[in-house]
Amino acid sequence: MSLRIVRKASQTQNPKQLSSIFFSKITRSLSRLSSQSKPSSSFGIAFDIDGVVSRSDVPIGGSPQAFRRLYDDSGHLRIPYVFLTNGGGFPESKRARELSELLGVKVSPAQVLQAHTPFKQLVSKFENELIVAVGKGEPAAVMSHYGFRNVVSIDDYAACFENIDPLAPHKRWTMKQVGNPNSAIRDLVRTERVQAAFVLSDSVDWSRDIQVLCDILRTGGLPGQEIGHQPQLYFAHDDLAYQAAFPSERFGLGAFRIALESIFNRIHPHALEYTTFGKPNSFVFKNAELVLKQLVSSVHDNAQVANHEIAGSHHFKTLYMVGDNPLVDIKGARQAGHPWFSILTRTGVFKGKENHDEFPADLVVDTVEEAVDYVLKKESIS
Ligand SMILES: [Mg+2]
Repeated sequence: MSLRIVRKASQTQNPKQLSSIFFSKITRSLSRLSSQSKPSSSFGIAFDIDGVVSRSDVPIGGSPQAFRRLYDDSGHLRIPYVFLTNGGGFPESKRARELSELLGVKVSPAQVLQAHTPFKQLVSKFENELIVAVGKGEPAAVMSHYGFRNVVSIDDYAACFENIDPLAPHKRWTMKQVGNPNSAIRDLVRTERVQAAFVLSDSVDWSRDIQVLCDILRTGGLPGQEIGHQPQLYFAHDDLAYQAAFPSERFGLGAFRIALESIFNRIHPHALEYTTFGKPNSFVFKNAELVLKQLVSSVHDNAQVANHEIAGSHHFKTLYMVGDNPLVDIKGARQAGHPWFSILTRTGVFKGKENHDEFPADLVVDTVEEAVDYVLKKESIS
């Protein structure tokens, strides 16, 4: 297509298809949760992580106390909840371990829904194709974990091409060589064209990644060659900014996307085509609802008999989204509609006294602890 196409995942993916890929692993992941402790089934909660539960891996807003209230005295889950984050870069199992440690409760990998979790759905399309994974953390390990067989990190990919980053010798902050591809990867990269690039999390080196991605995208997947058909490009999310340890917001994946797109569109006859996932896309909330249903049925039915039919027949009266970013968390919950109820905290991006003007939440509170307190009171749970 010659038109400028910016495809939102919500327009191109079937939410049911998207969700079904999670189900096979969920029952197994939740089998360690107790069946003795029957969680409430009329409501569920989705928590954003950055700016709500933690900030730069430090708990905030009384999150450890708040999450302990979602478990019984024996440490068994009693309130169905998931984490719904646009963050990423690590496998769900690793995030679950980190969150368990951070909050002092047992978090299952199935409860961790990251922005790039839906990339699993694309395994059938790119399973044996050469793909490049971009972002902080372990982007290639995440994609391998999902089932992609020929994935190369952009660190290793760039290291296969001598002088591809003319600024590399000037990057004195990198004391060691970045990327150390083995001979098999070097052979693969030099002979095969990249079929898709996946940006899972924030780029660590914008200048190199924009250069190398433009090389890949404008040449049909083989840097240094003539202009060719653009390989697929996927972004885990499109957040412009996020709240980290610094007092004001930091540039996010959306800012990187704007930079890449602006430059690509100046050097290429056709505008950049890409697909973005993550909140506030409505399918993300639909999927969270399905995972929460599965969570309820798994725990209720001793995990062994949990199945799609049980999950499909369950209806929540209310699903609470607790987030700090009006444009992402609150906008998403509002777009998703019933049964979502949005709660905005003041521990992250939003710092206003009242409510957000453009995307007002159903409730504004100071902290996640207040949010949990409100939900438990409203649902008559002590
Ligand atoms: Mg956040």
